[in-house]
Amino acid sequence: MKEVKTVEEVRNVVNPVKKSGKSIGLVPTMGFLHEGHLSLIKRAREENDFVVVSIFVNPTQFGENEDYGSYPKDLERDLKRCEEAGVDLVFHPSPEDMYKNHKTYIKVYDLSEKLCGVTRPIHFRGVATVCAKLFNISKADRAYFGQKDAQQFIILKKMVEDLNFDIELKRCPIIREKSGLALSSRNKYLSDKEKEDALVLQDSLKKAESMLKEKRDPSEIIAEMEKIIHLVDYAKIDYIKIVDLENLEDVEKIDRDVLVALAVQVGPARLIDNIIYEV
Ligand code: AMP
Repeated sequence: MKEVKTVEEVRNVVNPVKKSGKSIGLVPTMGFLHEGHLSLIKRAREENDFVVVSIFVNPTQFGENEDYGSYPKDLERDLKRCEEAGVDLVFHPSPEDMYKNHKTYIKVYDLSEKLCGVTRPIHFRGVATVCAKLFNISKADRAYFGQKDAQQFIILKKMVEDLNFDIELKRCPIIREKSGLALSSRNKYLSDKEKEDALVLQDSLKKAESMLKEKRDPSEIIAEMEKIIHLVDYAKIDYIKIVDLENLEDVEKIDRDVLVALAVQVGPARLIDNIIYEV
């Protein structure tokens, strides 16, 4: 496994790979790797000749009062995990190298302003910009993302379509702890008690899943989900939404494929989770 820090070094490695006709799979991450990330790497390994993992805590996707400065890091452990997972190249650039005198940003309008975009107005601009850069730098044929960040995937798909990127995006299932809590690097911020309390997110989604089979009115389902979240008195709901899986618009009736998504502040961590319901 090779480990490089600069864009030029990545190019020196991937150009010959590309020339020889081999396929490249990219897994973009912010590091502090867990089984969720590893599931993407495994899938990329199965479907490509050459696997690139990027580890980059991207400053442009964090708002002013967010956790950019304290985001968990453990590069040594991440590199070991990548090596064990059969990764060919790890790219872990510095912010200075990625954003030297940077003037160009990509914003996927409309989709970026919904759900998480309401309270994180610059987040998806940062995500789209860094992913566009990573797609170009790695020359990947395929890139792998988790359904955990469902809105991110939908936005990136639209960017790829609108800007004609020659890359295929793959959405991979959410990996959970045994308890049901979706794995996230930010779970590190939670105490054992908070982790247990955070299970209301999963419980409310399970309730939604069972209700979706019979009920067609989203507001009824959302009200039940709210009740479950409120069982933890300090949990603060950012949003609970049932939206069209493609355009993220609220639906009035469950008559198409929907995304049931929520964001809840549980103590020190803002947690997101979701399910996709296909009619
Ligand atoms: P992050 O390092 O949090 O930016 O995540 C990097 C990639 O891993 C994103 O595509 C996430 O959606 C994905 N990911 C994060 N958590 C999970 C999870 N629990 N299951 C599956 N994929 C995940």
